[in-house]
Amino acid sequence: MPIYRFGVVVVGTGVAGATAALAAAEAGIEVALLTKASPEETNTLYAQGGVAAALSPADSLAAHAADTLAVGCGLSERAAVESIVRDGPTAIATLEKRGALWDRRPDGCFDLSREGGHSHPRVVHARGDATGREIQQALGAAAQAHPRITVFPDTFTLDLLCANDGRVVGVLVRTARGELAVFSGGAVVMATGGAGQLYRETTNPAIATGDGVAMGFRAGAAVRDLEFFQFHPTLLYIAGAARVLISEIVRGAGGVLRDRRGVRFMERVPGAELAPRDVVSRAIFERMVATQDTSVYLDLSGMNGDPHTLFPGISRVCRYFGIDIARDPVPVRPGAHYMIGGLETDLEGRTTVPGLWAVGECASSGIHGANRMGSNSLLEGLVLGERTGLSAAEEAQGKGIQDWRVRAPRAAVAAPDGMRVNIQDVTYSLKSLMWRQMGLERTGAQIEDALQKIRLWSRAVRELGASEPATWELVNLLGVAHLASLSALVRAESRGVHYRTDHPTTQPAWCAHTRCVPVFEEGHIAEVVVARVPLESELPVAGA
Ligand code: FAD
Repeated sequence: MPIYRFGVVVVGTGVAGATAALAAAEAGIEVALLTKASPEETNTLYAQGGVAAALSPADSLAAHAADTLAVGCGLSERAAVESIVRDGPTAIATLEKRGALWDRRPDGCFDLSREGGHSHPRVVHARGDATGREIQQALGAAAQAHPRITVFPDTFTLDLLCANDGRVVGVLVRTARGELAVFSGGAVVMATGGAGQLYRETTNPAIATGDGVAMGFRAGAAVRDLEFFQFHPTLLYIAGAARVLISEIVRGAGGVLRDRRGVRFMERVPGAELAPRDVVSRAIFERMVATQDTSVYLDLSGMNGDPHTLFPGISRVCRYFGIDIARDPVPVRPGAHYMIGGLETDLEGRTTVPGLWAVGECASSGIHGANRMGSNSLLEGLVLGERTGLSAAEEAQGKGIQDWRVRAPRAAVAAPDGMRVNIQDVTYSLKSLMWRQMGLERTGAQIEDALQKIRLWSRAVRELGASEPATWELVNLLGVAHLASLSALVRAESRGVHYRTDHPTTQPAWCAHTRCVPVFEEGHIAEVVVARVPLESELPVAGA
């Protein structure tokens, strides 16, 4: 098997991975930047709203931090919030130097928009609602042009490689030609994005299958707060068509929600249409049930300014379906949007396993708590991407190749002759199951039932001896679904985006993280331990 040796191996070309790769390369390290798709096909590409940063004179770092903490419902780590918010303005300037063109007003100041939870306009955007495309193209071009970065498209990372002491020393991949190969590195950075594909309704592209979290866990890394999955309130809902996000900036600019009878139903809720996403999502869901409709409707007709000019991307998509956004009600419903939990990291991206870093949506840095405030994830990807790249580069200095082994899922008993597992069928069943039983609302009984099915499917799929990416993606989705369900079952309360109808209130005793860790027997995961872990700010200071 070919072995390619680099200083740092980065898996994922989105905002977090590309930024980490650039930072490591600028620090003088040779970087392999791997992606299972084309380098542009990322969640980042689809981001519309923008990047949050306190940039207007009326705003402040303290206000940005306070808003983030409030939306996080008590679970955001204060140190993470303050540290990431503090570096926001610098990250915006650095990205501009790397080629992104932000929208500015005629006086040269940033054209800042406002989203739910933000007390000030502080969302920097590009080309109206094409912020993600601008960021992806700028970072992609910078990475391609950098002499110390080699980009490997269509290179599916199957698993992490560990040395005998458990340290991560590289990755096993399936190359664009379908061959197995090893990329070894002094440090490996997971930047594989989210897992929206766990759900039937999602804003996320097909790449979002939770691979990084599943691989990291198989290598022994702790996973935190995976029960928190954010649902975006407004996906364009036209049966049979792909779900397209209608960004919060549309509501920030005056779009209002109405039911099929034209009744505006968010008016009396604090924050109205700009209440936190979980509040708006559940209000929409309840209104859909009450009116026996498959969606509610976004009304842009009373907006200041021409919606077609303000939101050209959304206008184009809706027009394709015969909807004139300046005049017609736009049918919308909630869908899975953002994986809040992930591989537990410090503020330089270190996971709990030596040699392994994680950043972006696959990581849990502590900023988002129990609910992510809009536009804070691109911010996190930029700020922590930079720090992760530098930290990984430092680690990689002078590291040689080490022996390695793969900690793959334990093989199951072979299936009887003639038994075939249909990957597409199981994948679709899992997405429906998660939508029904681990979605906007859950109960303990629903989660326990989901766990049984997930375990059954996991056993059946393992038997296939996965070699095709689609099978590995399903193995990974099942792994993440298992950890998310275990965490949701343990958290017997409602908080942020985790809403249990059998435990509808927030419990002070649960102002804590959930953490899943694997227990290994003979190199395989024999058990998962789920623990309740106090917030870092509440832990006693060492030596005090
Ligand atoms: P991604 O950008 O998703 O990149 C993941 C990369 O990992 C891809 O290159 C993928 O191919 C690669 N990968 C995955 N698995 C493997 C594997 N096994 N092997 C090799 N490569 C692999 N956030 C905001 O802050 N503001 C917004 O306005 C906003 N709008 C959004 C709109 C939409 C429609 C969506 C879907 C998300 C939005 N978000 C927004 C969220 C934000 O875009 C994401 O959280 C962020 O882009 C994630 O970046 P990332 O670098 O972590 O992952």
